[in-house]
Amino acid sequence: MPDYDVVVIGAGNAGLTSALTLAKGGARVLLLERHNIPGGCATSFIRGRFEFEVSLHQLSGIGSEQKPGPLRMLLGELGILDQIELVEMKDLYRLVIPGKIDLTLKAERGAVVETLKARFPKEGPSIERFFDFLYQFAAEMVGVAFARDPAASRGKYPLFFKYALKPTRQVLDEYLKDPLLMSIITTYWSYLGLPPSLLPFADFAVLLWAYIEFKPYHIKGGSQALSNALLDSFLQAGGTIRFDCAARKISTSGGKIKGVWTEDGEEISCGYVLSNASTLLTYTDLIGAENLPKQSFQTFAGKTLGPSGFTVFLGFDCEPGDMGITETTNFISRQSDPEVSFACWRTLDPPDGVALSCYDVSDPDFSPPGACQAALVTLQYAEPWLSLPPSRYTEVKYRIAQDMIDLAGKVFPRITQHLEEVEVGTPLTHMRYLGHPGGAIYGFDQYAKDSYFFEDRRSPVQGLYFAGSWVAPGGYQTTLQSGVSAGRAILKSMNKRNA
Ligand SMILES: Cc1cc2nc3c(=O)[nH]c(=O)nc-3n(C[C@H](O)[C@H](O)[C@H](O)COP(=O)(O)OP(=O)(O)OC[C@H]3O[C@@H](n4cnc5c(N)ncnc54)[C@H](O)[C@@H]3O)c2cc1C
Repeated sequence: MPDYDVVVIGAGNAGLTSALTLAKGGARVLLLERHNIPGGCATSFIRGRFEFEVSLHQLSGIGSEQKPGPLRMLLGELGILDQIELVEMKDLYRLVIPGKIDLTLKAERGAVVETLKARFPKEGPSIERFFDFLYQFAAEMVGVAFARDPAASRGKYPLFFKYALKPTRQVLDEYLKDPLLMSIITTYWSYLGLPPSLLPFADFAVLLWAYIEFKPYHIKGGSQALSNALLDSFLQAGGTIRFDCAARKISTSGGKIKGVWTEDGEEISCGYVLSNASTLLTYTDLIGAENLPKQSFQTFAGKTLGPSGFTVFLGFDCEPGDMGITETTNFISRQSDPEVSFACWRTLDPPDGVALSCYDVSDPDFSPPGACQAALVTLQYAEPWLSLPPSRYTEVKYRIAQDMIDLAGKVFPRITQHLEEVEVGTPLTHMRYLGHPGGAIYGFDQYAKDSYFFEDRRSPVQGLYFAGSWVAPGGYQTTLQSGVSAGRAILKSMNKRNA
């Protein structure tokens, strides 16, 4: 009998939910994590008197108790809901382009439409038509992509089939004229990693619709509280975790999983491996090209590594209101063209836009009394950082951090007077802590041709499964869901093997 039924590599969102699903389903599971805490991106760290949130800005798919969203239901099924406290955000976001626009959109359809109509009265009927269309499209997408209607067809779901893979910008052009209005509506593009000219409409539409319908949420204690709750439940269900213990090799025999070698040189035998690490490194480093059929690598053909993040973590010695911060989520941009902002992600130039999240606005207990914290974030690709000489790293990192603080200071001029702690994370920081190529936080770029709709879920090795942002769209909701699906798939296969 092997040492474990399943070895899960990586305790990110998907690794944790898959491990928990498997342990609850009766499997003997070992979870290996190279870092010393659970969560991957979903974690926190301490500087001075602040516990800084690493990644969670807005959690999607939660909804209220009366109208639960898919993620609330999933966390309920996993038995996690009563272990965490969810905090609803009333606003989608405040968008400020100094001198051009300053607008806050409430997380409510009628309010969004009225706010936009008041600012762009000439486009009033088009705005209404667009939101009607968005809702119809989302309803079709739920049927096809989430409920997996086996009778899905062009005739039954015409909007989905016509628009899902079209660029968001092209779809908006059918409804709206003013480029500024389009920029406001598509502000969330930066959460998805591609600008509206390249972003498949399905990805954008479902995100905007879901944040409006189920509201953005935060978690008391931050994302670490969720990761800890998932881990505790996993341990209670009989699972085992090893921290500071990276998987170094996956051993196979006759095209089947045989076991995992840890970096300490121990071989652990198992029937299944579920990797929350990148597919790329799982194939090349952990299994090795020589142990895989050549066609396995076709799955990567033409794919490109997605962006990483650059975050400035700020601890303040005052309440948010003392600095004029009244919304949790604030997007601040120098100008309104997303293409210009996106081009900046490939350079070490001053970022064109930042998102400022101040969790204490929705959750006044988030920081110590009389203090608050904010995360200033932009996405960035790793390439320019990888070609930067190490001797220039610190200078460039702090220069960009200062550029971002200066940009935020245009809207909140008092932030520099109240700074108590500053920490900075670059794409290289994400590479180091996550172990992913390019420090990519959403896996591969999600161009239409590489959409998860086309993801080939067959594995070249019997018993090898994947979960997380390298096989599902990036983000909390999707990676948490992806872990549960992969866990269930393994349980199903185990039942078949044992039958
Ligand atoms: C700055 C930032 C802001 C974000 N904001 C949001 C947001 O507001 N809303 C949202 O929905 N999403 C957001 N995201 C994205 C979201 O956090 C990620 O997409 C998601 O957490 C990825 O989960 P995952 O399961 O793919 O695992 P990951 O978080 O990528 O974790 C993978 C884990 O595997 C481990 N690992 C890798 N290789 C090995 C190995 N060989 N052996 C053992 N362990 C290994 C790593 O140490 C890590 O713990 C943000 C991300 C960042 C960084």
